Amino acid sequence: MITQEKKKEGMYESVVKQFEKAANAMNLDTNIRKILAATNNEIVVHFPVKMDNGDVEVFTGYRVQHNNALGPYKGGLRYHPTVDIDAARALAIWMTWKTSLAGLPYGGGKGGIQLDPKKYSTTELERITRRFTYALGENIGPDYDIPAPDVNTTPQMMAWISDTFMLTKRPSERSKFAHVVTGKPVGSGGLEGRDRATGFGVVTSIQAWADWKNTTLAGKRYIVQGFGNVGHWASLFMKEKGAILTAVQDASGTIYNADGIDPQDLLAYTLTNKGNVAGYANATSIEPSTFFGLDCEICIPAALGNQITEANADSIKASVIAEGANGPTSPGGEKILAERGIDVIPDILCNSGGVIGSYYEWLQNKQGELWTMDDVITRLEKQLLISFNKVVAASEEYKTDFRTAAYIVAIKRIELAYIQRGVFP
Ligand code: NAD
Repeated sequence: MITQEKKKEGMYESVVKQFEKAANAMNLDTNIRKILAATNNEIVVHFPVKMDNGDVEVFTGYRVQHNNALGPYKGGLRYHPTVDIDAARALAIWMTWKTSLAGLPYGGGKGGIQLDPKKYSTTELERITRRFTYALGENIGPDYDIPAPDVNTTPQMMAWISDTFMLTKRPSERSKFAHVVTGKPVGSGGLEGRDRATGFGVVTSIQAWADWKNTTLAGKRYIVQGFGNVGHWASLFMKEKGAILTAVQDASGTIYNADGIDPQDLLAYTLTNKGNVAGYANATSIEPSTFFGLDCEICIPAALGNQITEANADSIKASVIAEGANGPTSPGGEKILAERGIDVIPDILCNSGGVIGSYYEWLQNKQGELWTMDDVITRLEKQLLISFNKVVAASEEYKTDFRTAAYIVAIKRIELAYIQRGVFP
C-alpha cells in the first residue's frame, strides 16, 4: 500500500509524492485515489538454480502488478543488486502512469531479481532466467502480465522467457504464447526497431521540448548518465540532430571531452570493453561526483533512479533534464530544479518510446504481422508527439510542471475507466 508504508528515501517515496501532488492538483475522486494508492498484487518467489560448479543458489524474484484497469500489466524485469519489493513497487506504479499517458491498452507492472549479473556466466544467467519464468508461472501471460527488458536484461533473456513459458503449454498451443514478453530478438518474434525505441523516444521528446522553446538542438552540448540501451541510442539520435556529447558516466567511470565525444566511436569501444566507457582513449577520466555539475545545455540521466537529488541539483548547469531512466530525479531535487527554472521532461513521457515499441511488438505477434523499421519509427514519433502535446496542454490548464501534468493526463484516463465500470460488487 502506498499510504501505509513509509520506508527509506528511495524511488518508492518519490512515486508516492509525485502521485499525491498530481492527485491534489486534479482533485482526484477520493475512492479512486484509494484504489490507485494500492498495488493489486505483489509476487515474491524464491527459486533454486544450479550453478556451473554444481552448487545450488537460491534467488529471490519479484513481480509487482500495480493496476490493470486499462489492460494487462506491462513493464520490465530488472537484474540489479538494488532490486527489492520497494523498487519493484515504485517501478510498477510508474508503468501504470506511463502506459496510460501513452494511450496504450495496458496497466503497470515491474519486477526483477536482486543480483549482479556480472557475477554469473551466460549459462547460469540462462538457468536463472528460465527458472524465474517457471517460478512466476501463470502470474505472467500474454493477456495478463507482459514483461520486457530493463536494466541488465537483454533481448536474449526475453527469448529464454518466451521459450520457457511456451514450453509449459500444450504443444498445439505453444505458439500462441510467444508474446508473453516483448523486447525479444527480431529472429524470435521481436520488433524491428524495439532496440532503439526508448532512445529514439527520448530524443523525440527533447526535440519537441526544443520546438516548444523555439530553439534547435544543433550545436547544443549534452551529457549522458548510462551508456546502455537507452543512453547509447539516445546519444546516437542526438548526434543526428547535430548536438555534441561532452560527458558520459556509467557504472565503470566518468569520461569528458569539451570538444565532443563521438557516440558511434564510443559505442564501438564499449563493445570491446564489456559495455564499459572507462578507459576510452578520446576523452579524459574525471571524478564521478562532478558529472551533474558539468557545463552543458541538456542532461540525459539514463541509468538508475534517484541520481538528481537535493545533494546535487544546485550544481546542475543544463536547461533541461530529459529523463531516460525511470525516477532519476527525487522530489527534493526537482523542487530545486523548478526554483532554478530548469525544465524536466518526466520519465513517464520521455522514456515511453520503449513501452510503445513493446506494444507494437505485442500487436505484431498477436496479429501474425511483420512490421518494418519505417512503420515503427513513423508511428512511434507520431504517438510520442501526441503525448508531449497533451502534457503541455495539461501543464497550461493546471498551471503546473510537466511531471504533474503528465500524471494528471495519465490518471484521468484510469479515473474515467473506474467511473464508467464502477467497483465490483
Ligand atoms: P542497461 O542495463 O542497458 O544500461 C544501464 C546503464 O547504466 C549502463 O551503462 C550502466 O553502466 C549504467 N549504470 C549502472 N549503475 C550506474 C551507476 N551507479 N552510475 C552510473 N551509471 C550506472 O539499462 P537500460 O535498458 O539502458 O535502462 C536504463 C534506464 O532506463 C533504467 O532506469 C530503465 O528503467 C530505463 N528504461 C529503459 C527502457 C528500455 O527500453 N530499456 C525503457 C524505459 C526506461
